[in-house]
Amino acid sequence: MISPSAQYDLVFVGAGHSHALALRMLAMKPIPGVRLTMVSPDSLSAYSGMLPGLIAGHYTLDDTHVDVYRLCQASGCRFVQASVTQLDPKKRQLQLSDGSQLAYDWLSLDVGATPDLSPIGNGHASVVPVKPVASFYTRWQQLCRDAGGQTPSLAVVGAGAGGTEMALAMAHHFQNRQQAAEIELITGGDLLPGFPASVRAKMRQRLQAHNVTLHTHSRVHGDAQQQLHRGDQPLTAQWVLWCTGVRGLAILEDSGLECDERGFVRVTESLQTLSDTRIFAAGDCAAFPIPLPKAGVYAVRQARTLADNLRAAIQGQPLAAYRPQSRFLSLLSAGGKDAIASRGGNLSLAGHWVWRWKDHIDRAFMAKFDRQLPAMSTAPAD
Ligand SMILES: Cc1cc2nc3c(=O)[nH]c(=O)nc-3n(C[C@H](O)[C@H](O)[C@H](O)COP(=O)(O)OP(=O)(O)OC[C@H]3O[C@@H](n4cnc5c(N)ncnc54)[C@H](O)[C@@H]3O)c2cc1C
Repeated sequence: MISPSAQYDLVFVGAGHSHALALRMLAMKPIPGVRLTMVSPDSLSAYSGMLPGLIAGHYTLDDTHVDVYRLCQASGCRFVQASVTQLDPKKRQLQLSDGSQLAYDWLSLDVGATPDLSPIGNGHASVVPVKPVASFYTRWQQLCRDAGGQTPSLAVVGAGAGGTEMALAMAHHFQNRQQAAEIELITGGDLLPGFPASVRAKMRQRLQAHNVTLHTHSRVHGDAQQQLHRGDQPLTAQWVLWCTGVRGLAILEDSGLECDERGFVRVTESLQTLSDTRIFAAGDCAAFPIPLPKAGVYAVRQARTLADNLRAAIQGQPLAAYRPQSRFLSLLSAGGKDAIASRGGNLSLAGHWVWRWKDHIDRAFMAKFDRQLPAMSTAPAD
């Protein structure tokens, strides 16, 4: 239940990883006198770590998505199903896609990133960005239906963790159906940049075993006739999955908030935006003082600092700094129920048991949102 005596409106924009967790934390220990509102275009929010498993057929849609509507209900948070189309920090007001406006006293942004299609230009019907996940998944299901008994040809652009896992997941999907598919994985650099050589070697074996053709140091670009090329070769795949290069959403730069050169909103170590002390940002949409990879692990770890600092800022208390971890456990899925683990250094481990470990961690993360949360108290909690 929402406190009838709420003095402040704290509005969350985007139900990404940081916000889902921060909301859960604030539900357990509410901020007195604060009304919470979540603005999200979808009532489900994808957990990226399980997305390749959804495509491979290991998980259902429910397994891999946080039910944001239910989380809000359990947290005493208003849920507004809409996108923010404009943010006006001077008026402290949001313009929403349904035509309405929403005022806030304190604002938190976790809107993720958007694919940067500038190397090929927009308007290629065959190109499908992996984000937003909801529209990607609909297109994927359509492709599977259209493919019928034919041999689909797919190109995945970007051989970072996400692109490599997706190429293998798609290959596994078709192998499982005993359907031939031509799948290529293309990158302008090397396979899995930033990962240890032993992880790259294990992943190369798995790509081979799944008949995924790897093209490294080969850029995809578009020409004036809207034809796509890989290096100097025409790219003939029916379907191109864009898993590389992201930038900030236009609403961030358009708002006048200070952003970096890729359009991500600049924040301090406390996740407060540089331009406006009443606005915080976390996850991919935030440009932290030390550049961080756009990875869900950071969005997840920032949730605690975000929740604590929103509380502190509203209550006039000092803010704490978020300290990013220098190394973290990385678990990459490899098509079937197989995964590769690494944690800095050159050591890596792989196999079915690593997949079961990853599956356990991912399911434990999702289970946090299934457990019943205490309804938001109307009485001051602290
Ligand atoms: C295939 C794939 C696999 C990946 N696997 C991993 C992995 O294993 N580990 C890892 O660490 N990272 C992984 N990543 C990276 C990871 O997806 C991102 O870093 C992570 O999702 C960022 O989380 P976030 O909280 O910033 O935002 P997101 O999870 O991107 O969520 C942003 C939310 O904002 C909402 N939104 C967008 N625009 C608006 C708007 N205008 N108004 C309101 N709401 C809006 C969206 O609907 C979305 O729900 C993977 C990425 C891909 C593509």
